[in-house]
Amino acid sequence: MKLCQTVAELAAALAEVDQAGKTVGFIPTMGALHDGHLSLLRRAQQDGHFTVVSVFVNPLQFGEQDDFDNYPRTIGVDARLLTDAGADVLFAPSAAEIYPAGKQLREPSPGDLGEKFEGTYRPGHFAGMLKVVSRLFDLVNPDAAYFGDKDAQQAALVQQMVRQQIAAGEREPLKIVVCPTLREPSGLALSSRNRRLSEQELAVARQIYPALQAGAALAPDVAAVVSAARAAMPSEARLDYLELVDPLSFEKLDHIPEHGARLIVAAWVGKVRLIDNLLIGG
Ligand code: AMP
Repeated sequence: MKLCQTVAELAAALAEVDQAGKTVGFIPTMGALHDGHLSLLRRAQQDGHFTVVSVFVNPLQFGEQDDFDNYPRTIGVDARLLTDAGADVLFAPSAAEIYPAGKQLREPSPGDLGEKFEGTYRPGHFAGMLKVVSRLFDLVNPDAAYFGDKDAQQAALVQQMVRQQIAAGEREPLKIVVCPTLREPSGLALSSRNRRLSEQELAVARQIYPALQAGAALAPDVAAVVSAARAAMPSEARLDYLELVDPLSFEKLDHIPEHGARLIVAAWVGKVRLIDNLLIGG
């Protein structure tokens, strides 16, 4: 695996790939890698791509300084995991490489979709996320990029941005592949933020996904789904939202459409904010 820390090093590595006529599969991450991230890499490898994984904790998508400062950073371990997993390139740039002083970067608009749920609770988060993803896409110019279904609203926004940029002639065709959420046996979605949970908090976090399942069991009665899931949430978790929404528009639903519905949750466990979701039907 090649480690690239600058845009120039990345460009040199990608020029070789281009010459060899290979396609590029890209997995953007913020590091503190776990098997969920590695599952995206495995999917890109199965799809036959030369694989580029980025690790960049993007300051623009953090509202609270505290969350940014305390976000786990384990780049040495990440590099080893990626080497063992057979990644081709690890791109681990500094903020100055991604946001060079004086360089005007595209600022894709999250639009209406970005106003809802995560957008309401984390103002500026999606604009920052789209800005870095767009910048990374410009630098890596991948044929396909891989995202996790755990961050479903993020994946929907990236798909929307790419559609708009391709339609405007601003980007070459690029396939966005959304991969299933990897979970520990308890059902807890793997997340870099789980490392910040104490044993007691982990026990609370492990009750979140079963609560979604308890709600989903009552489909298609939408009111029953939502109220049962809320009732099954651990009392120690502080809920930001738990709703049943359209999987594409994230509008709240009063029935389950043919393409399914997503039961989405965001909750604080101690000082850690966790999100998860469960697709019903579709
Ligand atoms: P992050 O490092 O949290 O920004 O995540 C990088 C990518 O990994 C995003 O596309 C996430 O949706 C994805 N991801 C995070 N956790 C999981 C998981 N448990 N299963 C599958 N993908 C995940």
